[in-house]
Amino acid sequence: MKSIVVIGGGVGGYVAAIRAAQLGAKVTLIEKNNIGGTCLNEGCIPTKVLLHTAQLYSELLAGAQYGLKVNGDISVDWQSLQKRKADVIKQLVGGIKILLQYNKIEVINGTAKINSAKSVSITKPNGEIQRIDTDNIIIAAGSEPFIPPIPGVDSEGVINSSEALSLDEIPKSITIVGGGVIGVEFAHLFNILGAEVSVVEMMPDILPRIDSEVVTLMRAHLENKNIKIYTGAKVESIRRNGSMLDVKIETKDGSLMLKSQKVLMAVGRRGRLEGLNTEAVGIKTERNNIVVDDNMETNVPGIYAIGDITGKNMLAHVASEQGIIAAQNIMGIKDKMDYKVIPSCIYTNPEIASVGMTEEEAKSKGIDYKKGIFPLTANGKSIICNETSGFVKIIADSKYGEILGVHIIGPRATDMIGEAALAIKLEATVDELISTIHAHPTVSESIKEAALSVKNEAIHNVNA
Ligand code: FAD
Ligand code: NAD
Repeated sequence: MKSIVVIGGGVGGYVAAIRAAQLGAKVTLIEKNNIGGTCLNEGCIPTKVLLHTAQLYSELLAGAQYGLKVNGDISVDWQSLQKRKADVIKQLVGGIKILLQYNKIEVINGTAKINSAKSVSITKPNGEIQRIDTDNIIIAAGSEPFIPPIPGVDSEGVINSSEALSLDEIPKSITIVGGGVIGVEFAHLFNILGAEVSVVEMMPDILPRIDSEVVTLMRAHLENKNIKIYTGAKVESIRRNGSMLDVKIETKDGSLMLKSQKVLMAVGRRGRLEGLNTEAVGIKTERNNIVVDDNMETNVPGIYAIGDITGKNMLAHVASEQGIIAAQNIMGIKDKMDYKVIPSCIYTNPEIASVGMTEEEAKSKGIDYKKGIFPLTANGKSIICNETSGFVKIIADSKYGEILGVHIIGPRATDMIGEAALAIKLEATVDELISTIHAHPTVSESIKEAALSVKNEAIHNVNA
């Protein structure tokens, strides 16, 4: 029986462990903290619990627009919300533990160090060291926040995303450094919860890598809610000033001083290599990430790496898929990771979801493309939801109409993107999307209408 040691019990590691066990391997999973890793304990799940409540709260505040009469005050009970967050995590982590048990995976609580391609040592919480011999190793140790060397970044009140999820109280004001996915989701969250929010982004705009028409609309939404956004801006220093923090930033219009109770650092994450002993074992790394091929194998035969530590797309569903590929390759099922079709979602209001090529990418690659945009002002379900500020945009190649990219900003975007991912995976054309009957009334009808718009044949919009 083939033996595999998986280092890290996050969404990459536990999925790899289950898949390998399904295929008949004897699997040992080593986790130093909590099963579920970042995603379940400090990432995807807790952020979305808070964002879900924030969304309900803002809809209730706007109740009159929905024909609701609210008697009495509505307010956020931060402590109960924290408890709900903990309950959701507990339920999900509990479920994973049962699955690991069911698949006969041995779980060891401890910190793993790689001795060689065939041996791992585990330091347990009581200091005991256990050595395990194994046929293969899958490294799934995840990532941690990158903290840039800004003067004063270690001041009290400067926090990372994990700390932002478990604050004692909602801050009255917060400066968020980094206008990427974490920055924008937290800006949206704290704004609804009543904080004054500023975002400082060094690039010319927020959300690099997202289609620019989507970014323009999202930025307008955030700014309409009074979130201050400084782009092309550099943080010079952070300084504690009584109960507040002074953040000095340099913009193209000169320097500014932002004052806030908290500063959230959200400028990206880097691979958690510390203690793994990669260098001594000869595992190739680049900028704190482990280098892997498309089979998820490192340069050391028999050692695989998956998830955030590979520095590819740092997303939960990518980590899980990489885990499946690694497990299958080890167990003799040849499989390669394909990064062409990776849906990416941002859980703000409106939501953003995209898959495939942005218009900018199509342009830069010199692709002869057509685009279709369908505005949600013309979609019945969006009007019912009172969320019409958004659109579905499709990029298709001009010759065959093959769908190359789909970008959605609007309600239910994150749930709708699956259809677009499948379409791109199957190399579907706009004609195939058009001839697929979409249920009414749904926001997803806009996908079909956007496909029709590529051909200037939208039914519920005037065509150019
Ligand atoms: P992790 O989930 O980080 O798991 C790694 C595990 O390895 C950890 O449990 C760690 O304790 C353990 N470990 C590390 N070193 C050792 C060692 N030496 N020995 C033993 N154990 C070790 N992605 C999405 O797709 N959707 C989202 O909505 C989303 N939201 C996010 C929100 C936030 C605030 C953050 C920070 C991230 C979010 N992500 C989201 C990204 C997602 O969480 C990661 O891509 C995902 O968790 C990566 O999984 P992983 O298995 O590679 O690593
Ligand atoms: P990110 O790479 O998405 O964004 C970081 C941003 O910070 C970038 O826009 C970058 O230009 C900016 N930046 C870098 N250095 C800066 C500086 N010194 N000053 C100002 N701005 C600076 O990284 P993130 O937002 O930290 O998220 C980390 C990872 O977690 C991402 O890969 C993301 O995919 C994942 N994540 C995903 C979700 C989701 O899927 N909904 C949610 C949260 C996090």
